[in-house]
Amino acid sequence: MQFCTLFSGSSGNVVYLATERGGVLIDCGMSGRQTLDAIAQAGLDPALIHAILITHEHSDHIKGAGVVARKLGVPVYATEGTWDGMAAAVGELPARNRVVITAGESFFLDDLEVAPFSIPHDANDPVGYRFFTGRHSVAVATDLGFFSRAVSDAVSGAEIVLLESNHDPDLLKRNPRYPAALKTRILGKKGHLSNDAGAEAAVRLAQSGTRHLLLGHLSSENNTPDMAYRTAHAALTDAGAAVGQDVTLHVAARFQASFLYRV
Ligand SMILES: [Zn+2]
Ligand SMILES: [Zn+2]
Repeated sequence: MQFCTLFSGSSGNVVYLATERGGVLIDCGMSGRQTLDAIAQAGLDPALIHAILITHEHSDHIKGAGVVARKLGVPVYATEGTWDGMAAAVGELPARNRVVITAGESFFLDDLEVAPFSIPHDANDPVGYRFFTGRHSVAVATDLGFFSRAVSDAVSGAEIVLLESNHDPDLLKRNPRYPAALKTRILGKKGHLSNDAGAEAAVRLAQSGTRHLLLGHLSSENNTPDMAYRTAHAALTDAGAAVGQDVTLHVAARFQASFLYRV
C-alpha cells in the first residue's frame, strides 16, 4: 500500500492511497490541472485511481473533484449531506459515478475496505475514512472540531494516520486579519484541531499502536510546519514515545507531496 498527501492545508487537500490493484483520492480540493500534475510529478499512476472519496463539501476538499472524476472516468463517493452541499460545484457526472455512502457503513473498492466515520465539523454530514487491506490500515482524520470518542474509536490502531494540526490558538487569536466570528468558528467544537489538541490525539494514537503520524491541514496564517511538529514531538516524547523509533512523525506540505509511505 502506498499513501501520501499531494496537497494539505486550508488552501486545498488531496490525499492518495493505492494498493497494487487500485486506489483512491481522498478529497480533491485543488484544481483538476494542479491535481493531475501533482500525481504525475510524484511518479504515481493515475490509472490506479478508481474512485474519489470526499470528506465534506468545503471548497478546500472538492474544488477539482468534478474535473478529475470526468478526466479519469471514475466515481465520486460522498454522504447524502455532502452531495447536497457539493452537487452543483462538482457538475455533470453519469448517475453511476455519483455514489452515496453512509458513515458507519463499510464498503469495498478493489482490495481496499473503506470505513467512513462521522467527524465533528461544520459541514453537512462530514466523514473521515479508515482503510483496511490485509493486515494494514490507514486513516484520514482532518477537519475535526475536537478529537471525539467516535473519531478516536474509528482511527485507533491504524498503522498510518493523517491527523489534523491546524493552528496555534495564540497566533489565531492575535491574527488581525481574521474576523471574530471566524476565530470562534475555527476554535469551536465543529471547527479545526489545534496543534495542542492534535498533539494529545497523536499521543493516544501512538499508544494505540499507530506507527506513522502525518500532521496535516495546517492553517497558512495561524501555524507553521515547525510549530506543529515541535508541539507533537514534545507531547510524544513526554509520553515516553521515541519519535523515529516507536512512531515516525512528519508534516504534510501545503503544495508538495508528503513523504510517500509504503507498507
Ligand atoms: Zn472543512
Ligand atoms: Zn478543510
